[in-house]
Amino acid sequence: MRFTVLGSGSTGNSVLITTENTRVLVDAGLSAKQILLRLAEVGEDFEKLDAVLITHEHSDHAGGLRVLLKTVRCPVFLSDKTQDAYLRPKNGANGERETRLRQKVLKDNTVSIESDEGFTIGDIDFEPFSVPHDAADNFGFVAKNSGVRVATLMDFGHFTPLMKEKLTGCDAIVVESNHAIDMLRACPVYSWELKERISSPTGHISNEDVAEWLTEDYDGSARDIVLAHLSQKANEPNLAKLTAEYALETREPLFRTETRITLSRHDKPTEWLDYR
Ligand SMILES: [Zn+2]
Ligand SMILES: [Zn+2]
Repeated sequence: MRFTVLGSGSTGNSVLITTENTRVLVDAGLSAKQILLRLAEVGEDFEKLDAVLITHEHSDHAGGLRVLLKTVRCPVFLSDKTQDAYLRPKNGANGERETRLRQKVLKDNTVSIESDEGFTIGDIDFEPFSVPHDAADNFGFVAKNSGVRVATLMDFGHFTPLMKEKLTGCDAIVVESNHAIDMLRACPVYSWELKERISSPTGHISNEDVAEWLTEDYDGSARDIVLAHLSQKANEPNLAKLTAEYALETREPLFRTETRITLSRHDKPTEWLDYR
């Protein structure tokens, strides 16, 4: 199994996970055009996608889906609650029209999943788990194939005991590291309400929260941890990376680890991380 984060940040998120026989696009939050361009850039044929898996309805995870489905013909895996939220008309003149168009592309083209019950796509087994976020039914998951375990989780306000448990024994973990607490506080372009939303227990996770998990709870088993969903306004990539690396270094001597920290980017794919 291998994966690449095609793009990640507050403006859009998509991850591609593949095996020899299966290709799954996780979230379609980049524009359809960017998803198709980046699939080509990493050497994948969009016609061979087996599924698009949608974690939650927020536009930075599902905003490119409708237009993408004009080109890509594969089933969309999502939970009923997420589908309802995705199809709920937004305010404004185009809200009803957008809902009709969304209904049309999803018609007879969805597979209903539960956010806390395993499902399979091709030869990849998915073990999803709920995460605390202000969406209808967001989840993270562990993707499993031939003994390899890759976890992906974005958009959550705090680590729960269940999440910490699911993140053990993984070969790779893609985890949100949204903001630096001080940078979010000082950010001149975000309103007070938005700052409250981001830093709430159902908002987004900070570099400092990730560092605490890395020091206190992470089991050290992953070869790679990819930091994702970095805010372009309230974070700085090198700061996020240094904070995580420093956290790994301050683990108790017996629990030191060789884990490598990689940054994802909003504007281009990461390299392939390969566990075959
Ligand atoms: Zn998001
Ligand atoms: Zn979200």
